[in-house]
Amino acid sequence: MIVEVILGDITKLGSEVEAIVNAANEDLLGGGGVDGAIHRAAGPELLKECCTLGGCEPGDAKVSKAYNLKQKYIIHTVGPRYYSNPNPAETLRSCYQKSLQIADKLGVKTIAFPSISTGVFRYPLEEASSIAINTIKQYKSKNIETVIICAFDEKTYKVYLDKLR
Ligand code: ADP
Repeated sequence: MIVEVILGDITKLGSEVEAIVNAANEDLLGGGGVDGAIHRAAGPELLKECCTLGGCEPGDAKVSKAYNLKQKYIIHTVGPRYYSNPNPAETLRSCYQKSLQIADKLGVKTIAFPSISTGVFRYPLEEASSIAINTIKQYKSKNIETVIICAFDEKTYKVYLDKLR
């Protein structure tokens, strides 16, 4: 499995990326940051489907179709709120694991993640990026060949790239 870090907007990725991960909220009804961007780009049908998914616990993940995005699937995972989650490290690890498991089961070969929890949920970037990279590298994949971390700003990009090396 290859792990790559890129700088860019996750909603602009092409069809060679079959699944993107959304850093969602528990209610799965959209929000700010990457969640808002994904909902805007996918269109209103996404919200309709998300309403049927019954929400999502922190550390868990659920899948939907991708509508106007070029992917096949959106995997919605809820990261820990750093300052109120009782075990943010384990919850964050679980987000990456569960998302990879779902994608793998669906036969996805290429998946892209945003930097889960390091925006509004305030997870410190250094620690979050270590957990992300370690969890992805430890994952025993059946179908997934490439995992992309899509950083949206220069600082996030550099920190993830550093951890990868
Ligand atoms: P969380 O609530 O899990 O912290 P946020 O969306 O607030 O989620 O932030 C997570 C990361 O996603 C941040 O690094 C933020 O800059 C980034 N982000 C925001 N918009 C996009 C986008 N369109 N593509 C990729 N990453 C994005």
